[in-house]
Amino acid sequence: MSLKQSSISPLELERSSLSFPINELIPLIHGSHSAAQEFISYQKTIAEDPVLRFNPEMLGESRVDRFNMMCKKAVRYNELFDLNCERKKQFRCVQQFPEVTFGGLHQGMFIPTILNLGNEEQVAKWLPLAESNRILGCYAQTELGHGSDVQSLETEAVFDLKTDSFIINSPSLSATKWWIGELGVVANYTVTMAQLILNGKKYGPQAFLVPIRDLNTHEPLLGITVGDIGPKLGYNTKDNGFLRFNNVSIPRENLLARYVKVSKSGEFKRVGNEKIGYATMMGVRANIILNAASYLAKFLTIGVRYSLVRTQFKDERGLEMKTLDYQLQQEKLIPLIADNYAILFASKRITALTRKNMENAKIGDFSLMQDLHAILSGCKAVYTWIVLFGGEKIRQACGGHGYSLYSGFGALQEYAPNATYEGENTVMLLQTSRYLMKNLKKVDDGKTVSDFVGYLRDYNEEIKSICLAKEEIEFHDQEVLRKILRYDAIFKVFEARQKLMDGVSKDLSGKDSWDKHAGIDLVESAMAHINYFTFLTFADEVAKVSNEKVKAVLLRLLNLFAVNRILEKPKGLFESGYLNVEQFRILRNIKNELLKSLRNDALGLVEAFLFSDNALASALGQSDGKVYETLWDWMKNKNKMNEPGVHKKLMKQLRSGL
Ligand SMILES: Cc1cc2nc3c(=O)[nH]c(=O)nc-3n(C[C@H](O)[C@H](O)[C@H](O)COP(=O)(O)OP(=O)(O)OC[C@H]3O[C@@H](n4cnc5c(N)ncnc54)[C@H](O)[C@@H]3O)c2cc1C
Repeated sequence: MSLKQSSISPLELERSSLSFPINELIPLIHGSHSAAQEFISYQKTIAEDPVLRFNPEMLGESRVDRFNMMCKKAVRYNELFDLNCERKKQFRCVQQFPEVTFGGLHQGMFIPTILNLGNEEQVAKWLPLAESNRILGCYAQTELGHGSDVQSLETEAVFDLKTDSFIINSPSLSATKWWIGELGVVANYTVTMAQLILNGKKYGPQAFLVPIRDLNTHEPLLGITVGDIGPKLGYNTKDNGFLRFNNVSIPRENLLARYVKVSKSGEFKRVGNEKIGYATMMGVRANIILNAASYLAKFLTIGVRYSLVRTQFKDERGLEMKTLDYQLQQEKLIPLIADNYAILFASKRITALTRKNMENAKIGDFSLMQDLHAILSGCKAVYTWIVLFGGEKIRQACGGHGYSLYSGFGALQEYAPNATYEGENTVMLLQTSRYLMKNLKKVDDGKTVSDFVGYLRDYNEEIKSICLAKEEIEFHDQEVLRKILRYDAIFKVFEARQKLMDGVSKDLSGKDSWDKHAGIDLVESAMAHINYFTFLTFADEVAKVSNEKVKAVLLRLLNLFAVNRILEKPKGLFESGYLNVEQFRILRNIKNELLKSLRNDALGLVEAFLFSDNALASALGQSDGKVYETLWDWMKNKNKMNEPGVHKKLMKQLRSGL
């Protein structure tokens, strides 16, 4: 069947009109030309493999069939790449499949927890078993009734002197472990977080290695009740599970004992510095941040390509307009491209800082810890929200076809829990706010603060300042934009503290004021801190770029990132009087100009991330622009509802009851 449109791909035309050489941008994203080549050939291997490659047919399958397919993929992936050993490739693996893949918990939580919290003997015993998949593990912290507040977990591990073992129990319904990834069907071991109890005294939640299923029969062990928690909004190729313990006995050696020890006589001792273990665990959040840039790039590649193929309504010449030529469509997509680059560059810096912090911690230097913790918590929250809400915006920008699973936006539901696990986003932002409040107090007390919050040093003076720029040209200056974001952070941190004090002056306790009176301002202060950090990192990276054309396009993105942040939450800058109405008007004009000037580069900016058609798993985002042909093909040939005989069977059943 032929299309009414011209068969020349509109994408090819767009690719020839970029203002910058895409080959000079690619290494900035992937690290080097050779790393980019490696990524391309890795994707090719997956796309050409009959088991691993994307098959639209699976989208319509039942949960059990999809889970089964995911298991086959895990086995095949293991044959080709080794699930456990090539962690880097494993990390990229999450970007290659439209559904959640096997192993995220075994490799991402179970193995690292043994490595971080186990002592030398424990690591020597358990790591080879886990790395060779002879035991398959998961990380069981969350309970039906408790998640964010880890200290309130109910599962108990009571030391029994006579048998030299811990007896694990779930004392109530709400103590049931819940949501635990890879527990429902797959795992035969868990790291379980349980309240350590010695002689009737609680020593807080500690990590225990608990076998839960027989290694041969895979049947639950004595005292264990385990299974899958049921269907979810997405994530249906993951067996999130529940787990209950009824007098389950494990040897004393199964308490992970790098930082806590329980002696044979039941004495508790802290050993070494727990902060070292914490420093290593920070890597998990750093990975979520790194992944955020890739997910957003995938959604944007689909959205931008589709918006260049999709036409709606005619222009004055009678020609149908590409949807990307509408200012309103640009406003949906192009600021997210700016965010994508901001997150990408920030994630590279955060990865480097996390590594440095880990090396420092090993030699007893914890000076970076607090600053990094605040950055990781805040960026995890802000960036995953950008991807999630931005992804939904891009989906809607694809109109009706965005709602088909053939669009690739099913991955949005797979991504959604990133806002919740590894620290619920609001709770994470409040950790950043706590750090900011502490630093403001340090400044008041005449103590030094790190450069991460250097902007607070003269806050008393700075808070009285106003923006002096008047002409439009001045607002194109990166330095003017930097100062606005800096002021926004100062003002919001100050305001949050004022709000806390206001609560206290109204007879609230400090805690009540935090929880019931100042929460909104506290979270805003954390977001402003992260925005400023992100801008500074982006600006530093752009300054290093040597190719002038690439630099020019990245500078426009940097400015758009800043202008957008200012305009989307203008309240503080307006209330403080730092910016006046005329200055806001100028900023709105600048935003419009930037959207226009970035329109022709949008495709190159998203394609530089190099995602293959197979990885995008999207009819709308096909690199050859053949959107309608692909939709037609998948609907006709990959859709079981249209298979011969199916409709007859269905209608027979319906008619029999009508
Ligand atoms: C797909 C998925 C996979 C998961 N995998 C695992 C796993 O493998 N292992 C595991 O142990 N857990 C896992 N979890 C659980 C996850 O870690 C928790 O759900 C998460 O930590 C959030 O905790 P919660 O559910 O208790 O949320 P809650 O803390 O109950 O949050 C509910 C609401 O209360 C608000 N809130 C809570 N406290 C505060 C506060 N102090 N101030 C203001 N607002 C507050 C939150 O912002 C949120 O809006 C998974 C969850 C999902 C969805």
